[in-house]
Amino acid sequence: MINKTNKKRILLSPPHMSGYEKKYINEAFQTNWIAPLGPNVDAFENEIANYVRAGDAVAVSSGTAAIHLALCLLDVKEGDIVFCSSLTFIASANPIIYQRAVPVFIDSEPDTWNMSPLALEKAFKDAFQEGKLPKAVIVVNLYGQSAKMDEIISICNHYHVPIIEDAAESLGSTYKGKPSGTFGRFGIFSFNGNKIITTSGGGMLISNDTVALKKARFLAAQARDPAPHYQHSKIGYNYRLSNILAGIGRAQLEILDDRVNTRRLIFDRYSQELSELPGISFMPELENTFSNRWLTALTFNGAEITAGELLKALENENIEARPVWKPLHLQPIFKGTRYYSHKENENISEYLFESGICLPSGSNLTEEEQMNVINCIKDTINHFSKERNVIHNEKNLG
Ligand SMILES: *Cc1c(COP(=O)(O)O)cnc(C)c1O
Repeated sequence: MINKTNKKRILLSPPHMSGYEKKYINEAFQTNWIAPLGPNVDAFENEIANYVRAGDAVAVSSGTAAIHLALCLLDVKEGDIVFCSSLTFIASANPIIYQRAVPVFIDSEPDTWNMSPLALEKAFKDAFQEGKLPKAVIVVNLYGQSAKMDEIISICNHYHVPIIEDAAESLGSTYKGKPSGTFGRFGIFSFNGNKIITTSGGGMLISNDTVALKKARFLAAQARDPAPHYQHSKIGYNYRLSNILAGIGRAQLEILDDRVNTRRLIFDRYSQELSELPGISFMPELENTFSNRWLTALTFNGAEITAGELLKALENENIEARPVWKPLHLQPIFKGTRYYSHKENENISEYLFESGICLPSGSNLTEEEQMNVINCIKDTINHFSKERNVIHNEKNLG
């Protein structure tokens, strides 16, 4: 394979500014609000809360910080158990460890690639029998697709265990018409550089429990007691979002719906061009859900080459594609952690990891760039199938 490294790199999901960001940044400079608080922060919080129809929102320095605060608000502490989706980015589970709590990982199911209600039910039954229920369940909406919320909520309600919805990847998505992120006691969004909208780094904690969110603001600002001197009776964190970055977020939120449309169109083009190829299946969209299609994901189960080899072929063309997240129960740091598979002999997350590929999906991807990705995949798959046919024919002749 020829290495054409002089080609411009096609990135997986780069930032995409609207051009209106500078207006808000300039306002911050003109008023000298260069602080982790200020009018942009207040406005960004209100605008996100309105957008997803949540009671309130707290802007923080990252999605990870938002998950950490949610665990603190639910009083998760040393030795407590927290159930968490296995097929996700490490940031979903790291805050469990910050609290010295114990994660238990739950497999995916095939319809959404997200938390399997079957595996969750099994985990709850065991926990109940052992007399130690989890303090919280962290449910992730992978690549923009909502998990099976009705089923998951009904199981968690049965055991009276609150949900934290990790909607870091699913801002702008809905489940049965209701905005993603609003299904748990707490929801979190991320505005990291690779997400559908970005503040370069940032996050948001949302809830209808406005009293809890008031406490979140307190914890995120070093837990300072209401006294003129600096007095502290609790351990807090320095987790608030800068007023400059919140300004970027406000401009980004204005064009979020456009970004969702564009990412969905990118998905549609990939799907039209590649669905017929042998071994390719696209990530499904569950009925009555609307995915922001943050990343176009597919599984590749080719007879001739592996998903890893297809990724290498893309890399040779300077195209940034990635495997699906490595399941957390397979991560070296979580070795020996309890894990519940979808069915007795069916590990969905492991299958998705082995065969899954995420394609460049940025809303600023040009049609030409996308056709380069598509052609590279077509050429690679056709090349290998031809090669195999030649070998096959030679054998038959020989
Ligand atoms: C990006 C991401 C996070 C973490 O967000 P940061 O803002 O990077 O801390 C958490 N969970 C998932 C599923 C993510 O994709």
